[in-house]
Amino acid sequence: LSVFSNIAQAPEDPILGVTVAFNKDQSPLKVNLGVGAYRTEEGKPLVLNVVRKAEQLLVNDQSRVKEYLPITGLADFNKLSAKLIFGADSPAIQESRVTTVQCLSGTGSLRVGGEFLARHYHERTIYIPQPTWGNHPKIFTLAGLSVKTYRYYDPSTRGLNFQGLLEDLTAATPGAIVLLHACAHNPTGVDPTVDQWEQIRRLMRSKGLLPFFDSAYQGFASGSLDADAQSVRMFVADGGECFAAQSYAKNMGLYGERVGALSIVCKSADVAGRVESQLKLVIRPMYSNPPIHGASIVATILKNSEMYNEWTMELKAMADRIISMRQQLFDALQTRGTPGDWSHIIKQIGMFTFTGLNSEQVAFMTKEYHIYMTSDGRISMAGLSSRTVPHLADAIHVAVT
Ligand code: PMP
Repeated sequence: LSVFSNIAQAPEDPILGVTVAFNKDQSPLKVNLGVGAYRTEEGKPLVLNVVRKAEQLLVNDQSRVKEYLPITGLADFNKLSAKLIFGADSPAIQESRVTTVQCLSGTGSLRVGGEFLARHYHERTIYIPQPTWGNHPKIFTLAGLSVKTYRYYDPSTRGLNFQGLLEDLTAATPGAIVLLHACAHNPTGVDPTVDQWEQIRRLMRSKGLLPFFDSAYQGFASGSLDADAQSVRMFVADGGECFAAQSYAKNMGLYGERVGALSIVCKSADVAGRVESQLKLVIRPMYSNPPIHGASIVATILKNSEMYNEWTMELKAMADRIISMRQQLFDALQTRGTPGDWSHIIKQIGMFTFTGLNSEQVAFMTKEYHIYMTSDGRISMAGLSSRTVPHLADAIHVAVT
């Protein structure tokens, strides 16, 4: 008898499980709108040209070795990542008040930040939006924080529940941590306006709430790296503390390379130095130090202005294709006279549309049309193409009528 014979079968991950089911489906009609990864118009994964170039440079550089990186990762990568999110002219960077550590993509950055806060911050409660990316509550609970939610999405308008958000943050435990999606909120595609961000900032600062930004889609939402970082920069500009977890999975297409960074903006260089010393104590027993390849690709691109420009163009092309899929799907539903208001498809931002379809409608579309998506009705616009839009529109039309 196995010592593990009593182990229960764990459920499939609710997001990654969609792809498992998709892979089993033999139908030629099948479409995977569950996956949070960019696909070309042909439905293929995309490696950016500029990434291929950077990799070529790295391979040809005979002086490169495979030594361990420091616990905090590649120094150039960290500096450039902070500049990318906070802006090249950020006073916080110039005053050396920012510590940045390379982590395992966005997930690892959130986890390291969560573990640091659980050890060193006086208020161990984190408020996350309702709904949010399904991994958030698990990451922060396992990091040792107590997770609560604040209202975010209003199903009746398919937009922001701004009043509810303000009420919940007003009632939050003073000093608590608040997780904010920097842009392209996942799964809703609903972001606050600049005015609303400013109100959120004022409220949070007045209550001493600590902002923790999750930036998984910089440049992917609007096509502009600066516009998509505006929320973060507003908080940093007031001189207060701020956490930011960055991922290069989407915006450089480096998903499996696991490249990301955690930055902590402090009030002085002295504090930032001590914070970094403690981050090392979090990281060392977890994975010792991060991998070298992906961070080297990012650093190569970010420090060369020609490659940087090429990246911004490829990034914009991905964002534009997603925006065009929104328009095409909206138009296809209009053409079919599908009942209901579908304008949220073109109003929402980023990789996902929160369709408003319920779990029965989703199950129906999967069964009858071989369309795969998470049961909350979230579809990845990046998984759509001009070829598959009509099929999806047909399915939605039948599902809601
Ligand atoms: N945060 C959000 C909101 C996300 O959507 C994702 C990717 N699905 C991540 C973080 C982290 O992804 P990764 O660890 O691949 O960078």
